[in-house]
Amino acid sequence: MNEMFLLKLGEIVLKGLNRHAFENKLKSNIARRMRPYGSFDVHIAQSTVYVEPNGPESDVDGAWEACHTIFGLASICRCRPCEKTADAIFAAVQDYLGDDLNAAESFKVESKRADKRFPMTSIQLSQEIGGRIHEAFPHLTVDVHHPAYTVYVEVREQAAYVHGPAEPGAGGLPTGMGGRAACLLSGGIDSPVAGYMIAKRGVELECVHFFSYPYTSELARDKVLELARLMTRYCGRMTVDIVGFTEIQEAIRDHCPEAYFTIIMRRFMMRIASRVAKDHGCQCLITGENLGQVASQTMEAMAVTGAAAELPVFHPLIGMDKEEIVSIARRIGTLETSILPYEDCCTVFTPKHPKTRPVLSEAEAAEAALDVEGLIARAIENTEKVTVRYHGTAV
Ligand code: ATP
Ligand code: MG
Repeated sequence: MNEMFLLKLGEIVLKGLNRHAFENKLKSNIARRMRPYGSFDVHIAQSTVYVEPNGPESDVDGAWEACHTIFGLASICRCRPCEKTADAIFAAVQDYLGDDLNAAESFKVESKRADKRFPMTSIQLSQEIGGRIHEAFPHLTVDVHHPAYTVYVEVREQAAYVHGPAEPGAGGLPTGMGGRAACLLSGGIDSPVAGYMIAKRGVELECVHFFSYPYTSELARDKVLELARLMTRYCGRMTVDIVGFTEIQEAIRDHCPEAYFTIIMRRFMMRIASRVAKDHGCQCLITGENLGQVASQTMEAMAVTGAAAELPVFHPLIGMDKEEIVSIARRIGTLETSILPYEDCCTVFTPKHPKTRPVLSEAEAAEAALDVEGLIARAIENTEKVTVRYHGTAV
């Protein structure tokens, strides 16, 4: 029989009455994610998703790679199904796991018997298969405490399955079960991680990027689109709204007190992002803000910034250390792009002495010198919408 995947459900197993809806969503997400790799059968039983290629032309390696980035799964493994007899199970172990066993020094067998009609208990089955392995691979010692390699045997409803150690799944909840959010995406390290963290909770993403040409270059724009493309590996296709921000930044520079430049600029981001988000059916905004990281991320500054938003603003990185954020960025594959040295509109007209304890009434008074609604309307009119997919270039 062909190689296939067993994917174990994550937090979904804690759901009550709505568990079915989560499982159906996960199943359709997996089926969609398998599609580029050929024909696969996907079904769920007993907290496990069975993914089976429907023919030899399916790209099993490509599909396996994709399984690592599907939210809702606690662990994933490739396995070989076989008949539910000790002979067939051992033949599958020898053929499918033989190379791994040859390379190991010690081993153990762990069996699980979900099908209680199977005549041996789990312990008896482990002993039986372990004994045969020991005979066939005489260099191996049995080590039940710290084996170099563990052979897993699962006797389930349809078949028995043999496999080596499972790998961690992407965790989280199935995409599409948690609503829709607009992520304010800069070219930095933090915001792609923030978007990823929210996407992991089952949320569909759209991104908004503020772009200040000619103060920020086309290369900076392309970098942000590439970051969005990397995020789609986890959260699926999305739209990036690229908002022209130059007129707003120049108006702030010309008419507002310097100490408030950044705060007022960020309040414009909140207002515009809220409206773009509502257009996309998003229910909240996501930023990569992190308490105390820079002057605009003190509690006072975030309160004044957040007061301009028309939707709830979530900051998934708020309590994390930079090191933790960097290690997630590295793991999800955005770090290398984030550290490319292009400018962001936040670094244009940066005040020498930004206000770390801004006051809302002072920010509002400073904004009175501006045609806030006119500036917002023109910026929104000047928005370019780019659809981003993981497989393929931005269109
Ligand atoms: P990042 O690494 O995500 O750029 P940062 O630590 O540099 O974050 P800031 O530049 O102050 O912090 O930005 C804080 C948050 O504001 C960002 O995480 C992002 O969500 C949002 N933001 C900043 N600049 C932009 C931009 N040009 N377009 C869209 N959102 C932005
Ligand atoms: Mg930044």
